[in-house]
Amino acid sequence: DPLADAPRDLLAMRTETTPERTALLDDETRREWSYGELDALVDRVAETLDRTLAAVDDTRARPRLGTLVDTRPAFVTLVFAAMRAGIIVVPLNVRETTDELAWKAQRTALTAIVCERETESAALEVAETVDTGGSSTPVLSVDEPSANRTGRIRATLEETARSPNTRSPQTVPSESSSGTTVSSSGSSALERDETFLIMFTSGTSGDPKGVRLTLGNLIASATASAFRLGTDPSDRWLCCLPMYHMGGLAPVVRSTLYGTTVVIQRTFDRNETARVLEEYEITGVSLVPTMCKRLLDGGWEPDEALRFVLLGGAPASSELLDRCLAADVPVYPTYGMTETASQIATATPQDLANHTGTAGTPLLVTDVTVVDEDGDPLDPGETGEFVVSGPTVTPGYLEDAHTNAAFDEYGLHTGDIGYRDDGGRLWVLNRRSDRIVTGGENVDPGEVIAAIRSHPDVDTAVVLGLEDSEWGERVAALVVPDESGRSDATEAESADSSRVASSEADSIDLESVLERCGDSLAGFKQPKTIALADSLPRTASGTVDRDGARALLLERGIDVSELS
Ligand code: ATP
Ligand code: MG
Repeated sequence: DPLADAPRDLLAMRTETTPERTALLDDETRREWSYGELDALVDRVAETLDRTLAAVDDTRARPRLGTLVDTRPAFVTLVFAAMRAGIIVVPLNVRETTDELAWKAQRTALTAIVCERETESAALEVAETVDTGGSSTPVLSVDEPSANRTGRIRATLEETARSPNTRSPQTVPSESSSGTTVSSSGSSALERDETFLIMFTSGTSGDPKGVRLTLGNLIASATASAFRLGTDPSDRWLCCLPMYHMGGLAPVVRSTLYGTTVVIQRTFDRNETARVLEEYEITGVSLVPTMCKRLLDGGWEPDEALRFVLLGGAPASSELLDRCLAADVPVYPTYGMTETASQIATATPQDLANHTGTAGTPLLVTDVTVVDEDGDPLDPGETGEFVVSGPTVTPGYLEDAHTNAAFDEYGLHTGDIGYRDDGGRLWVLNRRSDRIVTGGENVDPGEVIAAIRSHPDVDTAVVLGLEDSEWGERVAALVVPDESGRSDATEAESADSSRVASSEADSIDLESVLERCGDSLAGFKQPKTIALADSLPRTASGTVDRDGARALLLERGIDVSELS
């Protein structure tokens, strides 16, 4: 195993080699940290974490720390501090409701929760629902607690709470501050094959699943990624995807291993992100397709410095890929998942130019087998489920039942359907769970979506099965009209494109959309229920929120028999 001796404290290792290089730049506060400064800060935070968590009655070898902290430098600090102190990190989504958070906190039996000013009350509420055998789950904060809650916040990780003006970040720390080991509670440094992260999936196909990821998974992913994208000491990564998802955290791990710079932008905004890309001369960024589209809609033109845009998390339409090519966006379409610590396959610009729509070949260390419904391997060109194996793949889910259901001799069943072409490139078509069974016939939503999208006024659509007393399921389509077809929609649109007046959306002729479907689809495949939306509902990581789409269709879906 080439990774057997890989380091376990990624930041300490990096700091030893290049303490003076810039590790982090924060756009919001304009602060920056060299690796040496970040390392010293992480040391202090690790000590506070260690001390606070050691006081909790938790008999497990590794405490579990939930984070309710948005994409900001403090998140990065927490991750590396936990790595140093031998604590498992459970990143929680700051946009979720307290019910959703409590469900995850209980499932992971958190030892403590770290919040920020904005998530204080949610964290306190969630902490009360976690049963830690008597003592209450402590809440820490990366910000100064608000006055009425000081008593209830156990500790402030105050190094990150200092206001931008009280400290000059330019001082290079003394040698002795890097790589110190913290171990007062007895938690030793993490082994490479131990769980370090418990990251929840987006919950697109059911309840979110807790995925265990090891340091080895993260290192393997970052290493393999460099073989595909290359790395240069002057690289600057923009992080504008939520860091509590794998796609947002992966660049932080990569950058630290490579010794490059992460620029943090707390939230994506098409104008602000375009500014940051240019101002910081960003060389690499990960985006979900919606973000890329919004940037282009806003007139963004990539700078020469930009080397790659990893585009993943959800399928990118061929229209979007064409627009990227036309605008000289160095786009690398990527297929990945939480369970593989991000990338599985990434297409290069050559792949893109000659095979538009492919997700490219699997990364160096990753094996992908395409299997049929019985789990038997298929040949190139044949469509089936992707099964992945290799050092980036999770050792398993939080719950054994999920793990047992997902793994077999070929590896982890992704639930994604597609094929491999003669060049070894993957083509992702849809999800296994998306398949609709109506009157005993199987319908592939991808085929229906393609028919709907052949209509010139349609931007995109989601197709799913609604329960039907007669047919089991009936085909239902949520259709998003093309923005460019609407007068001045782009100008009037704010960063949030989901608020276009629905009267405008209604201008598309639904009957003509159904006619298109009639031209190319068998009767049982044609939508029986249809509705319009200004945009597709999405999960925080950019995948289509199918439950949200289902709710919309149930609420405002029109029975197509009423249309004609
Ligand atoms: P859950 O597993 O709870 O249903 P999820 O699979 O959406 O949620 P993530 O791990 O965030 O959670 O997303 C990974 C999934 O996103 C992949 O399995 C795949 O279905 C989809 N995906 C990612 N990249 C692509 C891509 N380039 N093309 C098509 N689908 C993609
Ligand atoms: Mg999944």
